[in-house]
Amino acid sequence: VETTELSNWGNYPRIQALMEEAQTIRDVKAHVDSTEASIVRGNGRCYGDSASAPVVLSALGLDKYLHFDDTTGSLTCQAGVLLADVIETFLPRGWFPMISPGTKFITIGGAIAADVHGKNHHAEGSFYHCTDWVELMLGSGEVVRCSRHQHSELFEATFGGMGLTGMILAASFHLKRVESAYISFESERASNLDEIFDAFERSASWTYSMAWIDCLARGKDLGRSILMRGEHAKVADVANRANPLLPKKKLQATMPFYFPDFALNELSIKAFNWQMYHRHGKGTKRFIQDFDSFFYPLDAILRWNRLYGRRGFTQYQFVLPLATSREGLRDILTTISDAGLGSFLAVLKLFGAGRGMLSFPMEGYTLALDFPITPQLFPLLDKLDTKVLQYGGRIYLAKDVRMSKEVFWASYPEAEAFMKVIQSLPKGHRFASLQSERLGLHL
Ligand SMILES: Cc1cc2nc3c(=O)[nH]c(=O)nc-3n(C[C@H](O)[C@H](O)[C@H](O)COP(=O)(O)OP(=O)(O)OC[C@H]3O[C@@H](n4cnc5c(N)ncnc54)[C@H](O)[C@@H]3O)c2cc1C
Repeated sequence: VETTELSNWGNYPRIQALMEEAQTIRDVKAHVDSTEASIVRGNGRCYGDSASAPVVLSALGLDKYLHFDDTTGSLTCQAGVLLADVIETFLPRGWFPMISPGTKFITIGGAIAADVHGKNHHAEGSFYHCTDWVELMLGSGEVVRCSRHQHSELFEATFGGMGLTGMILAASFHLKRVESAYISFESERASNLDEIFDAFERSASWTYSMAWIDCLARGKDLGRSILMRGEHAKVADVANRANPLLPKKKLQATMPFYFPDFALNELSIKAFNWQMYHRHGKGTKRFIQDFDSFFYPLDAILRWNRLYGRRGFTQYQFVLPLATSREGLRDILTTISDAGLGSFLAVLKLFGAGRGMLSFPMEGYTLALDFPITPQLFPLLDKLDTKVLQYGGRIYLAKDVRMSKEVFWASYPEAEAFMKVIQSLPKGHRFASLQSERLGLHL
């Protein structure tokens, strides 16, 4: 049997895996009947090992639209459809995904399994909130449709369940009406952590908000950042555009090779962060931006993950409850900046209340930081884990690659309820990933 090298977005870890691809539901059934264990993979945009296992079943071949209701925006499609395709097909007709993460190159199955969030979680929730039902193939080969009213525990376990409840075959979810493909955008600078929290609170009525934060700033500059917020632009705002629903196609570049490992170091990150902050200047900036630049700035460079070299990288994303966010973020940012292991993609967002048994969001602030894999990194992240736990927070499974079982079970209060759901399912093929084995999320 031939194996291939497999890794997800962080290029770490790289393993040899047996890859199968399903084009039809019958293929999925044959896979489930003939193999003991595997994990389903969407487009491999999780950062770590959630979609890695010795045997992997790709869902990308299940890429059909099944139904669209042009009066309500309700779309039913197979799980391997990419969000990028949904946008390309439905934006020209005035519809946009209600929930979208920072890349559009993810599948609908991946959006559900990780219960993804966007810049609008405080206002519109996670992918759970726009989904009516999900159809799954269980390990027994049985196909089950679950919703808030039908097999509701399975529904709650599947959002954030990282593929462990079964293979998502299809789902029905809502798009939102938009008048244009543009965003009315505003940004402002905050010179420290208190200012950025205040800016988020003042911006609570905006649908979209996020901040880029300079995580190497220290002392009185700790937490200096740029807050960005936006609304879908109205037709009147973009009256000068030929077709408000069709922005000009942008050129896409591809990172042609892996950067050498030394390219990203403390000095280059410091210089980048310093520039980002100072170039913005004081005062509020306002302009109209196309949706790609606002939602998916990183997608403009295909394979930008090669910037981190062959050693790979990871993203550390945690959330802290509202009550401890200010104190906790001060503490954690100080620890990162003292360690000198900066990240040039550090993003802060505000969450509203969460749903789903293993879903990541909870009401509070979430910070995401990219770090190249180096020998000093994991001891620092272990230290951060302790602090995240101490402040009552948790770490996002879709980004995780190294969290311990103990940290996971101490921070996901519904993990036991989740395991009960898994244990109650009819037996057969086991859906398990390197991550689920590491975290003790298996039968
Ligand atoms: C640049 C970038 C920005 C990002 N920004 C955000 C963000 O803002 N918010 C956010 O929430 N996430 C974000 N992510 C993470 C990403 O949205 C999630 O990891 C998402 O799950 C990836 O979808 P995928 O189709 O690539 O799934 P994969 O990465 O292939 O798989 C992810 C998980 O979903 C499971 N899965 C996938 N398809 C199925 C299926 N059909 N049935 C059952 N299980 C399945 C897999 O088993 C695995 O556990 C970002 C990722 C990148 C690379």
